[in-house]
Amino acid sequence: MADADVLVVGGGPTGLALACGLASQGVEVRVVDRAAGPATTSRANIMHARGVEVLARLGALGDLRERSLEPRGMTMNARGRPLSTMRFAPDERESVQALFVSQATIEAALRRRLTELGGAVEWGTEVRTATQHADGVEVGFADGTVAQVPWVVGCDGAHSTVRGLAGIAFPGVAVVEQFLLADVRADWHRDRATSAGWFHRDGIVLAIPMRGEGDAPDLWRLMADVPASDERLTAEQIIARFARLLPERTGETDVRIEEALWTSVFRIHRRLAADYRSGRILLAGDAAHVHSPIGGQGMTTGIGDAENVAWKLGAVVRGRARPALLDTYRAERRPVATEVLRSTTTNTRILVGEGAVTRFVRDRIFVPVLNKPSVQRQATRAASQLWVSYRRGPLGGRGRRPRPGDRVPDLPCTRPDGSPTRLHAELGPRWALLVPALGPDAERLLATARAHLGDDVSLLTAHGPQPARLVRPDGHLAWRGGDPADLQRRLTGAMQTGRAR
Ligand SMILES: Cc1cc2nc3c(=O)[nH]c(=O)nc-3n(C[C@H](O)[C@H](O)[C@H](O)COP(=O)(O)OP(=O)(O)OC[C@H]3O[C@@H](n4cnc5c(N)ncnc54)[C@H](O)[C@@H]3O)c2cc1C
Repeated sequence: MADADVLVVGGGPTGLALACGLASQGVEVRVVDRAAGPATTSRANIMHARGVEVLARLGALGDLRERSLEPRGMTMNARGRPLSTMRFAPDERESVQALFVSQATIEAALRRRLTELGGAVEWGTEVRTATQHADGVEVGFADGTVAQVPWVVGCDGAHSTVRGLAGIAFPGVAVVEQFLLADVRADWHRDRATSAGWFHRDGIVLAIPMRGEGDAPDLWRLMADVPASDERLTAEQIIARFARLLPERTGETDVRIEEALWTSVFRIHRRLAADYRSGRILLAGDAAHVHSPIGGQGMTTGIGDAENVAWKLGAVVRGRARPALLDTYRAERRPVATEVLRSTTTNTRILVGEGAVTRFVRDRIFVPVLNKPSVQRQATRAASQLWVSYRRGPLGGRGRRPRPGDRVPDLPCTRPDGSPTRLHAELGPRWALLVPALGPDAERLLATARAHLGDDVSLLTAHGPQPARLVRPDGHLAWRGGDPADLQRRLTGAMQTGRAR
């Protein structure tokens, strides 16, 4: 007798998002984490638009918008003067924008949603072993207990135990030797509407405004690259280094660090798992990919993995799809991580500016163009991850845009009872069949979709979509057309063989 349908290892943002996605489909999910309780340190402090969209579809957005700072932009300085101000340009075509909000706050919102769905994280529960057999995995915990589960998903971070137990390699390289980080309360008369960075011949310093929680005052996140050293720095030593680095590299002498809430020293690696699945064990989030935190892409990418694998694993567990569908998870999400690794590595190398040539290109070419509104729009779009498309994957397709695999932006729709709604509000665990009008044609398409997907399909009418469209729970186009036989072929291919092309 299985202990649950799915064991999610890790209660960070990826594991929590996955658990919410599975629980909302009625899948029995266990979430375990080796930590004694929720992490209280901030860690990530920006969630890009695609991550916000996923949280909304999971029903976990809650009051995060009210608890966030709106990211306005970043001013880059060199030799005591500003080079450029890169403004985050809101994308007028989209209903979601990025949020400056701490990882701790996002995790709390996801835990609240998981509780509403009847789940909870089992803290102090460390996975040590995993042995696969024909119809499941036997998992051993640090306290000597074991669990039998059909599926395991390792969302256990960069040093993933599950990845090692599944025998999946994690090749990569170091990108930057060492970074110092501190979240501090400081007496510093700086504009808190934008972040700031200073280039100096010895390295970069970044200062990012962060909103304090509850009664806590507003904070600054400080980051600086320093030469690698094996010395283990204490929090006091890190703060002493920043107290020296700040005036040296920024030229500002009126800054006084009053209190440090979190300090850290880390190296930046770029690593990508050789596979995202080995039999009945899958990987998601930092367990599958790590990269530079500059640009704030990690959590958004992990939550995107979670949403992608949640509907597929849910369909397999509920007998609506064969396990071959799970291979589309790697095919769709690994290229996204490859692109995130490439862009964050390039941006980090340019920002850190190792070598005189790179620094010249950075200060004279790369940074000054960030003043241009067209470049700012492009950069905001690139960071947003709203560009993610699976059209080249096994569930993708050709033809007019949006093509199968493309993300479908939110749009106003009408339910069959005439009440107004929006497309993304109807997704989540559900699929949406968008038709130009109700009637026998729509009914035939709905019956075909429901034959494969059960009752999890909402019928909606919308202005514009001609012909009909079937939208996946993660907001990507599954199919467009008017012929039920064509829809039948496509869904059979996707759900039974993992190939719909
Ligand atoms: C300084 C810094 C700044 C960053 N800023 C941003 C940002 O602004 N925006 C952004 O999107 N990303 C940012 N990131 C990246 C982001 O923090 C990570 O991508 C994110 O934490 C990944 O989430 P995860 O759930 O995959 O893994 P994790 O958050 O690492 O969670 C893994 C969980 O698994 C548990 N675990 C580990 N091993 C086991 C085991 N054997 N058994 C049970 N449980 C286990 C751990 O206790 C942990 O709770 C930043 C990272 C750093 C270091």
